[in-house]
Amino acid sequence: MATASVTHYPLRISGEAVDTDALYEIVNPATEEVFATAAKGSVAHADDAVAAAKAAHERGEWRTLPPAERADVLDAICARMSEQMDELCALQVAENGATIRQAMAFHIGYSISHLQYFADLCRTYAFQHSGPTLSYPTLAAGRVRREPIGVCAGIVPWNFPLLLAVWKLGPALAAGNTIVLKPDEKTPLTLLALARIAEECGLPAGVLNVVTGEGEEVGAHLAAHPDVRKIAFTGSTAVGREIMRTAAGNVKRVTLELGGKGPNVVLDDADLETAVDAALFACYLYSGQACESGTRLLLPASLHDEFVDRMVARASNMVVGDPADFGTDIGPVISAEQRDRILGYIEQGKREGATVALGGRTPDRDKGYWVQPTIFTGVTNDMTIAREEIFGPVISVLKYDTVEEAIRIANDTEYGLSAGVWSADNERALEVAERLEAGTVWVNDWHMVSCEYPFGGYKQSGLGRELGPHALDEYTEAKFIHLDLSGRRDRRVYDMLVPTEET
Ligand code: NAD
Repeated sequence: MATASVTHYPLRISGEAVDTDALYEIVNPATEEVFATAAKGSVAHADDAVAAAKAAHERGEWRTLPPAERADVLDAICARMSEQMDELCALQVAENGATIRQAMAFHIGYSISHLQYFADLCRTYAFQHSGPTLSYPTLAAGRVRREPIGVCAGIVPWNFPLLLAVWKLGPALAAGNTIVLKPDEKTPLTLLALARIAEECGLPAGVLNVVTGEGEEVGAHLAAHPDVRKIAFTGSTAVGREIMRTAAGNVKRVTLELGGKGPNVVLDDADLETAVDAALFACYLYSGQACESGTRLLLPASLHDEFVDRMVARASNMVVGDPADFGTDIGPVISAEQRDRILGYIEQGKREGATVALGGRTPDRDKGYWVQPTIFTGVTNDMTIAREEIFGPVISVLKYDTVEEAIRIANDTEYGLSAGVWSADNERALEVAERLEAGTVWVNDWHMVSCEYPFGGYKQSGLGRELGPHALDEYTEAKFIHLDLSGRRDRRVYDMLVPTEET
């Protein structure tokens, strides 16, 4: 139960803290202790937040601000986040069990640098540009304006709650929209903290609102809301499908970032020393709870045994423990439910004939939700552990004989978010990379999500792209303005309906 010393986080609607009768107890997954509470929002709070966002859009003080001045406000938010880096990292570690090293680099570090990218992009993006002068049927000038869409909504999961929110609010705000964000029930704190920072930095009231609440209730309500003109969602493919269906009600613009089952293809000329560590990095970062993890490791038969031996030796020495400790390599998983789900997949893998080469259990610890780093060998691509997203520290090793076979196995999945190729020969690696069906392919690397390049999925891994300059296209409407330059009444084209008197 909550103790009197825990910090309470209210919702942020229209620039104000809003409290509710109900609350969420926020549990540290490493200790099972309730260390904070958050207001629990309802459908009525979601309505209030959308109304605040709509009113702010109509008032126009954000969308009519020159882009460079919007960028100044985003700069200030980034600066304040940097000043509060330690507090935000500590919050992230306690909230979702990210290790402190990962929180500093990715969970919070990337959140700041990616928001800064959108601030910078806001200064250079072509919100308006002239096109070719038209000469037929009469002389005219053309202009394209990229205008904000209006009220946007973002729904984010628990694994990278702040970063994945930044991927939505960054382009939305840079483009002049207003937004309502709904974090996952378990992890609302870093996003609520960011909303408060944004208010302190001068973001007008109602431009950024954060409402907590149950996904099926508050999240689904936002997806259906007639005043929400765009919805961006990161989470499971099943919920993404549902959101797309619901969003059809008012033909919302939709961006979806969904699940993955990333194939990591090691070619027979790969640098083993790096590739072995990278295979662990690709899967075990944040205990395997990243959508773009490398979870299917495809090894050539010639390298298989040596690679697995080296990987098992390296992984056996990884430190599983307190995520707040700088010496820890692997932290807990998010919840007891997630731990049991992962252990269920491990049992299923054994039943279907795969061999546990490492781990496979929960380590001996009194408190918290843990799964040992696990490696399965003897996996075939029809097994459940090769097809379904486990979302835990479980690597499935598949053996192949030819590169053709490796590419076929890699692409034999309903997902297409990420993939990797390892080779000492760049040309050879690029040939394989071009044939992999994935939104991101890393050659001799993994997890390098760059804010300057698009991120998103092929097939059932998503729809649209976040990050990169295109992200601003996804948060704007393109308006074409045609300006007649002829000034003449006798335009020939009118003749088809209202002929001039001479004709
Ligand atoms: P989830 O889909 O259950 O939940 C994600 C968010 O959606 C939460 O905020 C939740 O409250 C909300 N939600 C749940 N049901 C909803 C509904 N019916 N309508 C509207 N909102 C609803 O996902 P999860 O299991 O919590 O998160 C893990 C999943 O997210 C994994 O499948 C993972 O691959 C995926 N993911 C994808 C990416 C990506 O960028 N592609 C990133 C992170 C996570």
